[in-house]
Amino acid sequence: MASNLTDRLSRLVKTMRGQARITETNVQDMLREVRMALLEADVALPVVRDFIARVKEKALGQEVVGSLNPGQVLVSVVHKELAATMGEGVADINLAAQPPAVILMAGLQGAGKTTTTAKLAKHLIEKRKKKVLTVSADVYRPAAIEQLKTVTRQAGAEWFESTPDQKPRDIALAALDYARRHYIDVLLVDTAGRLAIDDVLMAEIKDLHAVLNPVETLFVVDAMQGQDAVNTARAFKEALPLTGVILTKLDGDSRGGAALSVRQITGAPIKFAGVSEKIDGLEVFDADRHAGRVLGMGDIVALVEQVTANVDMASAQAMAEKLKSGSGFDLNDFLQQIAQMKNMGGLGGLMDKLPQNMMGNKQPGQADMDRAERDMKRMEGILRAMSAKERRQPSLLMDGKSKASRKRRIAAGAGVQIQDVNRLLNQFDQMQQMMKKMKGGGLMKMMKRMGG
Ligand code: GDP
Repeated sequence: MASNLTDRLSRLVKTMRGQARITETNVQDMLREVRMALLEADVALPVVRDFIARVKEKALGQEVVGSLNPGQVLVSVVHKELAATMGEGVADINLAAQPPAVILMAGLQGAGKTTTTAKLAKHLIEKRKKKVLTVSADVYRPAAIEQLKTVTRQAGAEWFESTPDQKPRDIALAALDYARRHYIDVLLVDTAGRLAIDDVLMAEIKDLHAVLNPVETLFVVDAMQGQDAVNTARAFKEALPLTGVILTKLDGDSRGGAALSVRQITGAPIKFAGVSEKIDGLEVFDADRHAGRVLGMGDIVALVEQVTANVDMASAQAMAEKLKSGSGFDLNDFLQQIAQMKNMGGLGGLMDKLPQNMMGNKQPGQADMDRAERDMKRMEGILRAMSAKERRQPSLLMDGKSKASRKRRIAAGAGVQIQDVNRLLNQFDQMQQMMKKMKGGGLMKMMKRMGG
């Protein structure tokens, strides 16, 4: 497996430092990398071609502003276009119909239709406070009806009994009649799976559509399907007026390129993503986050943007200069760095945006993050309780004659213990050592490295 797009683009970006705009020449190599990344993510070839053409058109001639370089600008264009392509449309389920609002579930066998029907039932019950009924029109697979019954129970929805000797159309009509008489808000209709596109079954689901007049016709597709997703999506789109897509098994290792293919072919919005086998494993589809996954790079673009937008580049630069000139890193700088972290949305905001591989595959838990945020706030409080002179001259607190009384005063002012002040001074000391080694402002260095 090749290294991820961030790495590859970073390498390319290094060769184009100092170029002021995106041009026909410098964009070619980068687009080749983007194309590879999309193919690796299993986006279908014709879809990739289309997408690259659109990105190129948008990117050409773009100004490269401020501290950004052409590579970063292109990454940003790609990411935005990807998110926009996958994210347009109304995300939630449309229930604007004379009750019962009917939702027809379509897709290949094994895509996750039955499981998703129950997940959706649970979602509609819990989030939209609806009275939900499910029914299976799958009279071919012996266990299908029972399976829906089981998962419907888990979802806490009502289930309408059907039997394999009935005709799907009759099942649909009976369920609809029952739903009307029992004041059901939403009727979810699970349909027969097909292993591959099959004319007879396609005719059947078209007939079901005509009988039920659903407000939503959802195409359920397995994210692991990759390249094949295009053919499947096309066939369903030709047979049915699809109103939405649910992408299942996003918890697998696939990069989920099927999302882009399916979105482009069907023109229907991706409304939800299946993220586990369990009944509560359904999430509203997040196009922005998914774009990062397809590109294999987390939400790095948002991070780059946030950093450049919120950090005062001039002061970061000044700090870097100061350190290089050897005039030291004082407690004022420490305070400034903490303030800048806060500007970027705190530690939590930063961590969320880093790609998994930069975090050693382990996201810190919420408790860790909360603790880190609290620590930062406390540190800021202590620093602000110091006098400007003390911040400029930390030695007053470390080995000055009156250090004990100074620390007592600061602790009282910040509402903390003396030990907390000592701990902060220790941390500052370590940071100062580290800064000396890095010979440059920490934040500045980090931004540079991210920028390639
Ligand atoms: P159907 O033939 O389209 O009705 O598919 P099923 O609902 O029977 O699902 C096929 C298999 O995929 C089952 O083993 C499900 O548990 C599994 N499955 C469905 N959705 C997801 C998902 O989002 N994540 C994972 N990991 N498994 C899923």
